[in-house]
Amino acid sequence: MIKPGALSGVFGATGTAMGVAFATLPGSAVASVSALLVGLGTALATALGPRINRSARPVPWRMLTASTLLFLSGIVARPWAAQQSGVAALTADLFTLSAYAMMILGLVLLLRVGGGLDRNAFIDGMIVSLGMAAPAVQYLSLPAARIADRPLVISVLAGLYPVIDVLVLFIIVNLAFSTAIRLTSFRLLSISASMLFVGDLGYAVIGAQGRLVGSALMDLPFLLGFVALGMSALHPSMARFAEIVSQPVQPWSLMRLSLIGPALVAPFVVLSATRTIDRGWFTAVVLSGLLTIALVARAVSAVGRLAETQAEWLHEATHDSLTGLPNRTFLVSSVGARIAGERGHGTFWLIYLDLDDFKLVNDHWGHETGDLLLKQVADRLQGLVARDGTVARLGGDEFVVVGDGDQDRATTMAEDILQILRKPILLPDLELFTTASIGVVCCTEQAGVEAMLRDADVAMYRSKADGRNRWTLFASQMRESVSRRVQTEIDLRAALAQGQLWVAFQPLVSMANVTVVGAEALVRWDHPVRGAVPPPEFIGIAEETGLINEIGEWVLLESLRQVADWRGAGIVDEAFSISVNVSARQLVGDRLLETVESALQRLQVPPSCLTLELTESALMVDGTRALEMLEHLRGLGVRLAVDDFGTGYSSLSYLSKLPVYGVKIDRSFVKDLAHNEQDETITRAIVAMSHSLDLVITAEGIEEDEQYRILRDLGVERGQGWLWGKAVSATSFARDHFGWTPAPVVGAPRTPSTPVHPGAYS
Ligand code: C2E
Ligand code: MG
Ligand code: MG
Repeated sequence: MIKPGALSGVFGATGTAMGVAFATLPGSAVASVSALLVGLGTALATALGPRINRSARPVPWRMLTASTLLFLSGIVARPWAAQQSGVAALTADLFTLSAYAMMILGLVLLLRVGGGLDRNAFIDGMIVSLGMAAPAVQYLSLPAARIADRPLVISVLAGLYPVIDVLVLFIIVNLAFSTAIRLTSFRLLSISASMLFVGDLGYAVIGAQGRLVGSALMDLPFLLGFVALGMSALHPSMARFAEIVSQPVQPWSLMRLSLIGPALVAPFVVLSATRTIDRGWFTAVVLSGLLTIALVARAVSAVGRLAETQAEWLHEATHDSLTGLPNRTFLVSSVGARIAGERGHGTFWLIYLDLDDFKLVNDHWGHETGDLLLKQVADRLQGLVARDGTVARLGGDEFVVVGDGDQDRATTMAEDILQILRKPILLPDLELFTTASIGVVCCTEQAGVEAMLRDADVAMYRSKADGRNRWTLFASQMRESVSRRVQTEIDLRAALAQGQLWVAFQPLVSMANVTVVGAEALVRWDHPVRGAVPPPEFIGIAEETGLINEIGEWVLLESLRQVADWRGAGIVDEAFSISVNVSARQLVGDRLLETVESALQRLQVPPSCLTLELTESALMVDGTRALEMLEHLRGLGVRLAVDDFGTGYSSLSYLSKLPVYGVKIDRSFVKDLAHNEQDETITRAIVAMSHSLDLVITAEGIEEDEQYRILRDLGVERGQGWLWGKAVSATSFARDHFGWTPAPVVGAPRTPSTPVHPGAYS
């Protein structure tokens, strides 16, 4: 394998050898050919280098190629031009001057690409150039220009070259102080420019004495300069100029000082040495004036850069990079300042907000989608709060809003936040629905920032436990519930492993003739210390921690096994369908489909005997993915039902797109049906709508005869509620509703629903 810089190295070695031949055999054919080859080789190298190294910015290099060719033309034309008179005599100089212009342009462009032409380096370059301009003009330009025994234009040109050199010097300083100087290619470029400078200086010195033609040795620096330029173009690092980021603050280096120091004193030294103060006072004043201005500009620039950088750092340290919102550090200090100022007034609030199911979004659509969602939420919050308060992101999907005002103001704001999140979030190729759980806390005199955040967090968790998408005002009793929550999570893991869970069955009846047509499987937890823990106290936690996947799968398998048993005993038939609750996480997870399919097959249960209940919010997490899953499940022949219908935001048009079998009207509408006309109107509307979509309607939470009759008359097909029985063990269910008791199995008495670890099935 060839080493990355090999081509550049070979070019350098060959070029240098030719240079040596040129200098040691002056006037020979070998010397002329060598010079020509080096020049052409450099032009070729600068033309091919960007292609070989795949540089994204080839334009500056094309200028350097052109510049090389122009220099060459100047060299070739010079002997001929020397013989001419009039304008033709200037041909060589015209080539050379355009070569300089092209080169300076090319280098400046490269400097810009390489993060160079930095403000400070630019001023440093000015200082050095201005300082050097004094001796250059005094010793080189003026003497050359004053030589009178030749055409004026030749003298003026001879005087111009040293001034051009000052420009070249300016570029060199910029190259040297650029951040890109770390790259080999850039170093070679500065060497090339320096060689040119040295060569020019030689000519300027003899030019001041009236000579125009030098020796081969004097031309050697130009040749070596070409070689360095060719090497720079061929070196692979040339493609990396664009990657270099200029450093905002550069330290003062010895190199800088050693260039700038002499430059500053140069004009004065020159003027006093030549004792031409009388004649040169104007130059002295102008130059030192310009130098002073440059120095002041340099100081201002350096301090300005420092201040800018400091401001950037401060912003970075106190703001979140994704959303641009203030972060926790900022929040803590600003709320701290508020507390200090408000002590005794107690008139500001803090809202803690956590997105519901954000982990789900991240897990299934990736972090990029998650980030886009967070940004939109941040924008909405900021748009809402505007000047009334501060929005901060604490990290993850947690935001905090702080503002002035009393408790009413705070709760109104919390309500407004829920409202603005209600609109779907439109992302490329995806429409997401998100909700948030909110905790509100008002400033109390004793509160510290951290304490307020903690309290708001506690209230937020209460919102989560109460069903999410809501706000809760903090109350001190809530602290206790948090530790309970943490304990629940720990206990739940053990419950699963130790078989403390079991499945209860609640009958589903046909409204027409009040016969049992199915059952809903509801998980139960017998905690060894706390006793029976109600599902609302642990289902939410299980969903957040992901444990719902295992629990849900276990409930599903256990329910199907039970149905298979009952079918085997002949107490239920095809008409009996078991309803199992499926959480959003399971729906977008990757196990549900396979679990359902294999269990149905293994247990010989027809697919229509299984109804999966999904809440509206689970269906709305994402249209596309959930829909795909539903299509697959429907394809198996399994029934799908929308649970708690009426509590979410699913629209009629949305529902019509889903392959669902039925809806389950939420308990809340049934509860006051007999006394609340509005509930009846809503229920009537749901029934009409569902029928138009050919959906089977179930009403849940039916406790009274009156409710039953109204619902039946409205056209509801099926009912569930305490009127016909609570959720009970499998044994009780079979006995109560089918008058059947399983025969005892000798040696292995069966518990109603033997808790089995999910692993036992796989
Ligand atoms: P859900 O799916 O809407 O279940 C119906 C809930 O209403 C059950 O509460 C049931 O016991 C209760 N219920 C039934 N009839 C009546 C009645 O006449 N009056 C009253 N007041 N309540 C009645 P439960 O068992 O506490 O379950 C609560 C929720 O927990 C369920 O609501 C469901 O969302 C969830 N859940 C229960 N088991 C599971 C499960 O295995 N997996 C999942 N993902 N969620 C489950
Ligand atoms: Mg249900
Ligand atoms: Mg329900």
